[in-house]
Amino acid sequence: MIAAESFRGRKVALFGLGGSGMATAHALMAGGAEVTAFDDNPDSVAKAASEGVAVADLRSVDWSGVSSLVLSPGVPLTHPKPHWTVELARAAQVEIIGDVELFCRERRARAPEAPFVAITGTNGKSTTTALAAHMLDRVGRDTQMGGNIGRAVMTLDEPAPERCYVVECSSYQIDLAPSLDPSAGILLNLTPDHLDRHGTMPAYAAIKERLVAGSDTAIIGVDDIFCSQIADRLEKAGKTVMRISKRLPLADGLFAEGGSLKHADNGRYEEIATLEGIDSLRGQHNAQNALAAVAACMTIGLTREEIQCGLNSFPGLAHRMEMVGRKGAVLFVNDSKATNADAAAPALSSFRRIYWIAGGLAKEGGIETLSGYFPNIARAYLIGEAAPAFSATLGETVPYEISGTLEAAVEHAARDAALDGGAEPVVLLSPACASFDQFRNFEVRGEAFKAAVNGIGGVQPIERGR
Ligand code: ADP
Repeated sequence: MIAAESFRGRKVALFGLGGSGMATAHALMAGGAEVTAFDDNPDSVAKAASEGVAVADLRSVDWSGVSSLVLSPGVPLTHPKPHWTVELARAAQVEIIGDVELFCRERRARAPEAPFVAITGTNGKSTTTALAAHMLDRVGRDTQMGGNIGRAVMTLDEPAPERCYVVECSSYQIDLAPSLDPSAGILLNLTPDHLDRHGTMPAYAAIKERLVAGSDTAIIGVDDIFCSQIADRLEKAGKTVMRISKRLPLADGLFAEGGSLKHADNGRYEEIATLEGIDSLRGQHNAQNALAAVAACMTIGLTREEIQCGLNSFPGLAHRMEMVGRKGAVLFVNDSKATNADAAAPALSSFRRIYWIAGGLAKEGGIETLSGYFPNIARAYLIGEAAPAFSATLGETVPYEISGTLEAAVEHAARDAALDGGAEPVVLLSPACASFDQFRNFEVRGEAFKAAVNGIGGVQPIERGR
């Protein structure tokens, strides 16, 4: 745990007592702050009290002596409307921050030279974070990964000069980290998302921009207009910018040409790594993630050999185009994290003979936007509440069945894929739907898929890590 020593002797109000909120409370207490914590959920308040955290309704405390309000990232700062604690803190002119800000202050105070890679973007954050951390870990660096993935950032080990931090940041966390200053900041991409929380696209983009604006090296995916403008703006302001592109050759920066990752310097370029044959990094979207992670590792001084070795051995993340196994030529892929049509697009574009398991609790807009990938779908197996609506969209274009349950879908898809005769038929769960009509969450759905696949018999696990 990182003790928040820069808050010693200060009064801190803390709201939100979930996992990261509790970790933050303990970090502040260990650093010698006087914490008063609260949550709208009485059970969380009782649990915190039982763990020795001082709790009180923040409506009844004297805010004049409070130095900071520390919020959990889920608590609304602006949209749809500021949380009541935010109103109270603003009225008392108290700063409002989150755990990533606490981390930044501790690192600056104790080991400002410690490499700190911060990652944001609309999509691909977790994959890029996990990959960068894996590459560093693999070459024996003392690597600490956390933030919006895995461990809460204040539960990581104390800052030390050689320690590398790889921290995934949601826009919520950036919003609560006014002095965010990574050594390498990654902004992968920007598409409209979470606008309920940030109001408008410019407001959302401005928050994400802050992560790269505060970094020593700004690594920016320039394949969308929002990010490309941010890169231009920061460069004009004199920042060190490393552009990455998953689809266009660049004169300066890193780009992908097929599976080949190239480093361009003043119009001359050379291959620095290849993604050829790496199952866990298939697809153009993963080329973007890999380029970003590679760029960050280059700023930390990894050699080409070390980078290639890290890419080759990346196991991938569960539920994101996760290669579950093979039976004969048939590949089984779990992409349960794809809870809307946009998130299913990368997987549908990555394979050519797809036996597609889709459905669940449909989101607005359905699957019309995926029609460009329908030629890749050999047959669809529809489950859950969305099945009738999806079948209407597939219509005459894609053969389908309404399987109902995931188990039936896996069984039928595996049977049909085995008869495909093509080079690599793929049974793909990429539901383009939330899971809640049939499963507790996307993880449980993904586990159920894997259990059903393994239940078929004869499925061989994929060998990982070369
Ligand atoms: P995040 O942490 O930002 O939600 P993940 O790495 O968990 O992203 O990936 C979630 C899903 O988003 C993946 O299953 C894939 O469908 C899609 N995805 C991953 N990386 C990218 C990318 N660079 N661009 C677009 N979509 C992506």
